[in-house]
Amino acid sequence: MNPIELSFEFFPPKTQEGIDKLRATRAELVMLKPKFVSVTFGAGGSTQQGTLAAVVDIAKEGIEAAPHLSCIGSSKDDLRAILTEYRAHGIRHIVALRGDLPSGMGAVGELRYASELVSFIRAEFGDWFWIEVAGYPEYHPQARSPRHDLENFARKVKAGANSAITQYFFNADAYFRFVDDARKLGVDVPIVPGIMPITNFSQLMRFSEMCGAEVPRWIARRLESFGDDRESIRAFGLDVVTDLCRRLVDAKVPGLHFYTLNAAASTKAICERLGA
Ligand code: FAD
Repeated sequence: MNPIELSFEFFPPKTQEGIDKLRATRAELVMLKPKFVSVTFGAGGSTQQGTLAAVVDIAKEGIEAAPHLSCIGSSKDDLRAILTEYRAHGIRHIVALRGDLPSGMGAVGELRYASELVSFIRAEFGDWFWIEVAGYPEYHPQARSPRHDLENFARKVKAGANSAITQYFFNADAYFRFVDDARKLGVDVPIVPGIMPITNFSQLMRFSEMCGAEVPRWIARRLESFGDDRESIRAFGLDVVTDLCRRLVDAKVPGLHFYTLNAAASTKAICERLGA
């Protein structure tokens, strides 16, 4: 039994090369005995079938696999069909999201928010699925206000979620405060911190800009100063993210969820340094 409950997130590969790479990544990371792994889902996009294929592939290896499912841009019939297929494959764990519409795609769909998706899943599938939802310690970029975002988070948990995974962050205090505030609103499910290993400066800044996660100035400046020196970026990133995880583990968080980007090395190195 792993002393730290781990989960790893992958995205569905689009090419045979990507499929082979993900299998190799998985083979390395399953040695850390994760509680489950999850596979992302693209709203309205071509990765939807890829999510199912990846999840089925993983489940065949005896690993608990949780597909992500976003409701934006989909009809209830579409969502019901996908969930029915997961159930037929014996999948019992799902990450329920609103998602984001790819630019240029019009219709919002029948369910507007993740809370509505959670209610839909509970109404149609009862307790078949263990449902995870997303939390935002630094608030969702479209939120009207921090308070409103927290209330919306509490709403989707109360709609029937079993657990939550957060957006990544580099400031542990944002996470601790978020958990305290959520508890005050009656949220009593585990809130597992999402962890982003640092391996690439420009990619990190781009992702963070999109999802509203803050990269503290001292981290951004140091990473920038390394230029193309990937080894220094990796070594510094490893130190920073391991320190963050250590602080979280010391505070007895319910687990760590790694955004692996389908690469094993950094996630594995961090977990090993933590003694996982
Ligand atoms: P919601 O909880 O619905 O919230 C979205 C926004 O609406 C927030 O600003 C919230 O405050 C507001 N809101 C909620 N309810 C109401 C209401 N009733 N009235 C008014 N405003 C409301 N994206 C993908 O496309 N595929 C993935 O696989 C994926 N996986 C993710 C996994 C994790 C752990 C996380 C943290 C994010 C993931 N995302 C994924 C990104 C996510 O889809 C986006 O952040 C998206 O913009 C919001 O999704 P949500 O489920 O958090 O939305």
